[in-house]
Parts: sequence; structure tokens; C-alpha cells
Amino acid sequence: MSVILQCTGLARHFGGVFAVNGVDLAVREGTIHSVIGPNGAGKSTFFNLISGEILPSSGTVTFDGTDITGTPPHRMPHLGISRCFQRTNVFPDLTIHDNVWAALFARMNKGPADYLKRRNAFPDIEEKTAQIIREVGLAHKTTALARTLSHGQSRMLEVAVSLAGLPRLLLLDEPTQGLAPEATVEMTHLIRSLAGRYTILLIEHKMNIVMEISDTVSVLSLGRMIEEGPPAQIRTSQRVQDAYLGR
Ligand code: ADP
Ligand code: MG
Repeated sequence: MSVILQCTGLARHFGGVFAVNGVDLAVREGTIHSVIGPNGAGKSTFFNLISGEILPSSGTVTFDGTDITGTPPHRMPHLGISRCFQRTNVFPDLTIHDNVWAALFARMNKGPADYLKRRNAFPDIEEKTAQIIREVGLAHKTTALARTLSHGQSRMLEVAVSLAGLPRLLLLDEPTQGLAPEATVEMTHLIRSLAGRYTILLIEHKMNIVMEISDTVSVLSLGRMIEEGPPAQIRTSQRVQDAYLGR
């Protein structure tokens, strides 16, 4: 399977603190690749380096063979990278349908002149909108306003809007954080169902979820990648256990 995202010698320090300290990581296309690690390990910094929120002190990020190091966040969707749960990407006073429709419309580079045509002049967008809404389990809410959704449903809509960016790589930052147990299970199933069609890089604290849905797990500790492999290998790694126990 081909590598879609490659980080090489990625590093970022804040003053004297090396938050990320020379990380090499290769994400294979179509897989779910999780990054875990104890608090302060550098996970958020690592994600921010990939999504362009912050610049690396050194090292490179390559996406689909192109060096994208330092590309600003607003350019990411054009490259085919969507980041979910970073900032709200949902319009509360639009319906579920219109939120997804608008995101697809923007992604497909239709200009204002196109918009002045009748909406149903875009059967392709309409069809894709319905497909994405079905995919995240919100078909029964299509005509509801986004602000009327439950917390769990809002998260699903955020995923839907991210998918409407037609990403090849989806960056998920703790997608189940703050969700009730039932919504956590739904989100876990959704992420798993996206595997194969999308590539997903996931930060997640909840170990059981990571072990359930990941193809590959990378473990960060004090800015360094200390272990990488399939869940079964990570679960039994002494090095990983030591890192979590602070030894
Ligand atoms: P994690 O997400 O794994 O908990 P972070 O990436 O947030 O870890 O942080 C890694 C280290 O870098 C921590 O020691 C943190 O205090 C430090 N750090 C992160 N961001 C900044 C910043 N903007 N300024 C100074 N130190 C930072
Ligand atoms: Mg963090």
C-alpha cells in the first residue's frame, strides 16, 4: 500500500522545550493510523505541524509526494486534507442538508455565477450531499437546523462537513472527547466504516477505541516516537507501558 503522508525528522521547539523532537512517520493510504501518548507527549503539536497551524523548527511533511511543509491551514482542503474538530466548521442556522451542500459546493470550486443558477442544476452535489448525510447517520435530520442537533449529532455533522471537503486524508483530533457512551460507540463505528475509502490520522486518548479501530498505532513520548505497530503489538509493549507510567 502506498504512503500518502510522510513526516521526516519533524521537530518543533518552544524556547527550550522540544515538543516534537525528530519524528518520522509514514501513513499508508486507506488506513486508520492513530497517534497516542501520555499528556504533554507532543500529540497536539505534531498534529498542528501537519495541518499547518504551526511551523516546524526542522523537518518536512510530504503529502502524496509533494512537500507541503509550512503550507497554511486554509490551503489544506485544496490539497485534499481535512481537519475535523479543530474549529467549528458548521453553520448553526443552516439545515444539515445545506451545511453539507455548501461545503461540497465550495470544494467543487463553483463560482458565484454558478450559484445564481437554480440549485437543482447540480444533481451531482445533491446526490453526494445525500450520500454523506446517510453515511454519518443523519438522514432523519436532513431538514433540521444544525443548532437543534444533540452534541453527538453535531459531531457527526462536523464529520459530514469534513467529508464534504472530499479529503484524501482526514485528521481527527479526539473525535469522541466529551461524548456520551452511546454517541462514542456511534462515532467509533463511523470512523471504522470510513476506513479504506479515506485515510485517517487520529489522535485519541481512549485506548480501547484506538485498539479497536486502528490499523497502525504510533506512540509519542516526550516528543519522540517510541513505538509503532499494529494494536496487538502496542498493547503488549513494555516501552509503551513504561511511558504511560512515567518511568
Ligand atoms: P499533548 O497534546 O501530547 O498533550 P502538546 O503537544 O500539547 O502535548 O505539548 C507538548 C509539550 O510542548 C508540552 O511540554 C507543552 O507544555 C509544550 N508546548 C506545547 N505548545 C506550546 C506552546 N505554544 N508554547 C510553549 N510550550 C508549548
Ligand atoms: Mg494535546
